[in-house]
Amino acid sequence: MPHVITRQCQGTCDTACVNVCPVDCIHGPIPLERIAAVPPEARAERLSGLQLFINPDECICCGACQDECPVSAIYEEELVPARYRDDIRRNAAFFGLAPGG
Ligand code: SF4
Ligand code: SF4
Repeated sequence: MPHVITRQCQGTCDTACVNVCPVDCIHGPIPLERIAAVPPEARAERLSGLQLFINPDECICCGACQDECPVSAIYEEELVPARYRDDIRRNAAFFGLAPGG
């Protein structure tokens, strides 16, 4: 099962997960260089509501990103807590995909 970034990423969005993904399947709504250019202390305000997403068709489920996330925003799809289940659909939809393939 692919991994999923939940809305817990919003307000932190530090791109740490991107740096360790071996298949480069984590992307966001603005270029990652622009996110990286915003100081961490300013992200909650200047990147309000922004988060990254995992392409479920490309994720190889290695788990490397989970270990890097400072706010534990990433879960294996089947382990996403009930209150974040809609984020499975949101990750797939960001890439124009339907959840579950
Ligand atoms: S689980 Fe692995 S392949 Fe999937 S997004 Fe995370 S680092 Fe990338
Ligand atoms: S490491 Fe966590 S908080 Fe940082 S961008 Fe990735 S999912 Fe978001």
